[in-house]
Amino acid sequence: MRLEVDWTRCDGHGLCAQLLPEAIWLDEHGFPVLREREMGEGFAELRDARRAVAACPVLALRLERSTAHAR
Ligand code: SF4
Repeated sequence: MRLEVDWTRCDGHGLCAQLLPEAIWLDEHGFPVLREREMGEGFAELRDARRAVAACPVLALRLERSTAHAR
């Protein structure tokens, strides 16, 4: 699983970075920067990522299956 941001929705208030600081940072403008590493099913981090997704006030953050973004 991998975190993705819909930039057309994100308002840059940074709630996601507060909830998941190990995977999301804020840039100098307050917009999220996502860590590239995958999140494995069953890890506590994935549970926390789901919480961050649910907490995004504009539904800009989502978890996507990594295979959809294979290069
Ligand atoms: S919580 Fe949602 S709107 Fe706020 S910075 Fe994160 S992705 Fe953007």
